[in-house]
Amino acid sequence: LDPVFTISGTVVKGFGRGSKELGIPTANVDADSLRHSIAEAVTGIYCGWASIGDSSEVYKMVMSIGWNPFYNNTEKTAEPWILHDFEQPFYGQEIRLLVCGYVRPEANFTSLEALVARIHKDGEVSKAALSHPQLQHYAAEAFLQPAA
Ligand code: ADP
Ligand code: MG
Repeated sequence: LDPVFTISGTVVKGFGRGSKELGIPTANVDADSLRHSIAEAVTGIYCGWASIGDSSEVYKMVMSIGWNPFYNNTEKTAEPWILHDFEQPFYGQEIRLLVCGYVRPEANFTSLEALVARIHKDGEVSKAALSHPQLQHYAAEAFLQPAA
């Protein structure tokens, strides 16, 4: 399995827990798009690059792939937290994700506070990793650009 892989799909509504319970918005990608792109991906936290809709702007992102142990989810999900402050939600838009680093395996947390603290740390680790030239160069991949 290639350590670098891409996901593109439509941003759909999740349970709305990310922003409300954690203060961390995590976009949900439609299940049909995920089925072929992450079927073989090892669960855990990944980092990479993201772009949205008609915009050619590329952002750092940190993403969980898994069965979401904290909520006992039953479906495999990919939930990117884009490390950028957006003024508006982007439900219904296309999201393009280029995954280029594995941050850590999944973990269980005994409190919401511990989970939130770890996600913030994952974000810092990812930002730093993506700034290294070896991962930075993936930001220029044509895949991340909107179709002309
Ligand atoms: P949901 O359960 O529907 O995923 P969340 O509370 O997790 O709801 O919020 C995710 C939504 O917030 C995304 O679908 C997107 O439209 C919006 N959003 C705004 N800023 C971000 C961001 N930085 N990263 C990811 N999603 C964001
Ligand atoms: Mg979410």
